[in-house]
Amino acid sequence: MHKANLDWGNLSFGYMKTNCHLEYYFKDGKWSEAKVVKDDILHLHMSSTCLHYGQEAFEGMKAFTHKDGKVTVFRADENARRMVKSAEKILMQPFPEAMFLDAVKQIVKLNKEYIPPYGKGASLYIRPLLIGVSGILGVRPSDDYLFVIFVSPVGPYFKEGLKPIDLYVEEEMKRAVPGGTGDAKVGGNYAASLRVSKKVKDLGYKEVLYLDAAHNRYLDESGPANFFGITKDKKYVTPKSESILPSITNKSLMTLAKEELGMAVEQRPVDVNEIFDFAEAGCCGTAAVITPVRSITYRDKKAIYTGDETGPVCSALYKKLTAIQLGDEEDKYGWNMEIPL
Ligand SMILES: *Cc1c(COP(=O)(O)O)cnc(C)c1O
Repeated sequence: MHKANLDWGNLSFGYMKTNCHLEYYFKDGKWSEAKVVKDDILHLHMSSTCLHYGQEAFEGMKAFTHKDGKVTVFRADENARRMVKSAEKILMQPFPEAMFLDAVKQIVKLNKEYIPPYGKGASLYIRPLLIGVSGILGVRPSDDYLFVIFVSPVGPYFKEGLKPIDLYVEEEMKRAVPGGTGDAKVGGNYAASLRVSKKVKDLGYKEVLYLDAAHNRYLDESGPANFFGITKDKKYVTPKSESILPSITNKSLMTLAKEELGMAVEQRPVDVNEIFDFAEAGCCGTAAVITPVRSITYRDKKAIYTGDETGPVCSALYKKLTAIQLGDEEDKYGWNMEIPL
């Protein structure tokens, strides 16, 4: 297959213009066919609800090239379903799941020169978004919606590879509250999180670990990623909370921990003081799969798990999941969706 002339081994995680994106409009009660657009600028009404009142939801997936040249996208059906839930949460017209999966197949195929080859640690990131585009000024949900899907070749989220990071437990600032929109993948949650990220970075930590807003006592998640701890008796423990985003990576890791590593898995409220009992900890999401945690600072105490090495359970989980994504290991759970090229 002809490939774009890129330095595949040195891609960063960022936007790169590709051949085209797709646009679908919801107007007069129905979704349009896909429009293939070469330009990467959208034409929007300045009074669109997405620009004023945050009617925006998005998703993130990756396409991988296997050794035999086959291209697959990881668990796109889960992303399609989650985007419907996100849309419903902020009263947007959901984009149908079947159309979503078809859009993923089309956009990858239309940009196939940009799918990184096997073995470079790189992938094709797929970003769908849904926005309210009625120019209505008043505060109410849009009548019209735009679904956009584009791709960008990306390297590993953390260039250094599996390098353990330091987390900081934030007690004052929140990104989401119980009964709010924390469990929906909406841009508004990210607007609320930017200042928190800046605060912890200025303090010298890589990421925040949020506490639940009601009690300031139970772990929520870590910025754009879910959090899990591995106990000394090898249980996989991950917070259950209505203000965190249900991560598909986390869901997959729970399956692998249980079925492949024979571990007990607990999804339950996790008291912040449990961080001092974990043997390992990690953050998980599509972008980095697993980011091992080196330490967590809570008030004047620091839980330290590792130096610069990744713990054995985090390593094993990371290897399993990435081997399935790359086709190096049998896809026995049916997680890979093949893209007809
Ligand atoms: C997208 C996201 C995650 C990770 O979800 P995945 O489905 O694993 O990519 C975790 N937390 C938040 C807040 C997110 O937006």
